Amino acid sequence: MYDETFMRRALALSARALDTPGTEPFGAVVVKDGAVVGEGFNHSVAHFDPTSHGEVEAIRDACRRLKTVDLSGCDLYTSCEPCALCAAAMHIVGIRKLYYAASLAQSGEAFAHVSAADRHPIDVETLRAEAGAPLHERALPAEQKLDAEAIPILRAWAASR
Ligand SMILES: [Zn+2]
Repeated sequence: MYDETFMRRALALSARALDTPGTEPFGAVVVKDGAVVGEGFNHSVAHFDPTSHGEVEAIRDACRRLKTVDLSGCDLYTSCEPCALCAAAMHIVGIRKLYYAASLAQSGEAFAHVSAADRHPIDVETLRAEAGAPLHERALPAEQKLDAEAIPILRAWAASR
């Protein structure tokens, strides 16, 4: 059930980027049973981590605090509609419902005049298409090598379970 307190927390986290070098104004919180169990905001430049998006940071924080990789039953509140990277992270952990403030289109408008040198830009439409495409339909070239050596490792790991 939506609780505006949590959306305001996500927005407050995003606003911390206004005076925190190396961060961007994207904040998120993970909520379970009416309480915040994880939160974060974009530190991609500060941490030299291009996957440090607000939603990913909040998910990492929640998983570490709860000592789990399963966040089913949790909701995610974010200051901006998630990109495909964050959508993938949310899918992997089983987030139940998403609440977002700005849309990606609204974010794009707000950032339209910012040069690439002043931020770590993502072409969200290209990312979505690339992430959703089958391997050999992606722009990223890919070739399969040494699968005969990789598969026994997979089988050995699986067999020990
Ligand atoms: Zn993202």
